[in-house]
Amino acid sequence: MTEQVFAAIRRYEAQRTTRRVFPDASAIAGLASFGGALPAAGLSAERVFEMLEEFGSPATVMSTGPRYFGFVTGGALPAAQAANWLAGSWDQNCALQVMSPVVAELENVALGWIASLLEIPSEALGSFVTGATMANFTGLAAARHGLLARQGWDVEALGLFGAPPFQVVVSDEAHVTLFKALAMLGLGRDRVLRVPTDAQGRMRVDAFPQLHSPAIVCLQAGNVNTGTLDPAEELIALARQSGSWVHVDGAFGLWAKAAPGYRELARGYEGADSWATDGHKWLNVPYDCGIVFVRDGAAMTGAMASSAGYLITGNGVDAMMRGPESSRRARGVDAWAALRSLGVDGVGEMIDRCCRLARRFADGLSGAGIAVLHEVSLNQVMVALEDDAQTLRWIEQVQSEGVCWCGGTVWRGRRAMRISVSSWATSEADVDLSIESMLRCAALVRASADSG
Ligand SMILES: *Cc1c(COP(=O)(O)O)cnc(C)c1O
Repeated sequence: MTEQVFAAIRRYEAQRTTRRVFPDASAIAGLASFGGALPAAGLSAERVFEMLEEFGSPATVMSTGPRYFGFVTGGALPAAQAANWLAGSWDQNCALQVMSPVVAELENVALGWIASLLEIPSEALGSFVTGATMANFTGLAAARHGLLARQGWDVEALGLFGAPPFQVVVSDEAHVTLFKALAMLGLGRDRVLRVPTDAQGRMRVDAFPQLHSPAIVCLQAGNVNTGTLDPAEELIALARQSGSWVHVDGAFGLWAKAAPGYRELARGYEGADSWATDGHKWLNVPYDCGIVFVRDGAAMTGAMASSAGYLITGNGVDAMMRGPESSRRARGVDAWAALRSLGVDGVGEMIDRCCRLARRFADGLSGAGIAVLHEVSLNQVMVALEDDAQTLRWIEQVQSEGVCWCGGTVWRGRRAMRISVSSWATSEADVDLSIESMLRCAALVRASADSG
């Protein structure tokens, strides 16, 4: 079947720059072909694959193409995509080193490279997880373990019932998944101290609470709306006064560390205790690929390790002792390939380029009289028309034209279109084509507002 598979992949990839970004209505209607009750009789593998190509490929969102600016979405670098195909054929279980020496090696090498790019201390233990949501979960589980172990409480054995209480400090602009992770850990979405943020969405140093005992302090590197990073140096110094654990949600923004032109924004983050980030966003590795590091490796294994007589452990710390999952796919192989193909310079150039292109969006749109709602400092741009109703119609119009795709958001009470430049594949020409589409759509919306 290999020939059939690669022919389909070639046909799909040929459409990457030309097909509309969001599938049209007829492609969506075709999805009905997949359903119904499971027939009694099976089909050949070839026929099943044909169905996927015929009805599946046209209904994808072309997020691997160069003009997808929704959410914070990377594409898949050629080397990473190719590695993903081969690793799929390998079908390795990566829980233990003995299950797959090759994947254990590739993942450990990739984790070391990522730590070095992000200036995470070399003593930290790392793990590949599904995404930043689980990276936050794992980092915070280690934090919970670390804080309570110091007080003689074994939270994995005893749970949180009766445990000594501690505070959790978050930014008012913390990501929804951070709250989800806190909820899953029994730390509570609402039982947090929320620190107000400045006009650009950064945690305010002057509003940081006075802490009288060790807490978990969560910083954010990369606000999903403005792209800003909390001022880590000052905030970590304050957190240290109470002996607190500092966790970083750096899903995309921590990658500023790897970019010569933007590294300064991430100054101080190396002083934290745990770091959550994504490979499938700015490193442009296929889904699912999140990464977590914990400075105190014993806190990480304390929170995550499990043992049984039949589990043969290898040299170093096996993957399942460092993360929430046991059996899982070889996600670190894609990351290794992405990094090896780019090198240090290539990673930096990719991050720099995305930020430059975000600036190009901001300049092009503001030059044409469209409001940019914040200082553009990284790869995120929020823009808006005169009122919320027009902005909503504008977003719909841009999405339906299909040249590019951007989502919406609300910033300080105002509706905005959100442009995130995160793909290796985006060029200046793609930005210019997208700006033209946005301006055409804005003119339509404004004209209909005037006549209505
Ligand atoms: C995307 C994002 C997350 C969640 O990441 P997933 O990979 O979707 O799990 C968490 N925090 C921030 C700041 C993000 O941008």
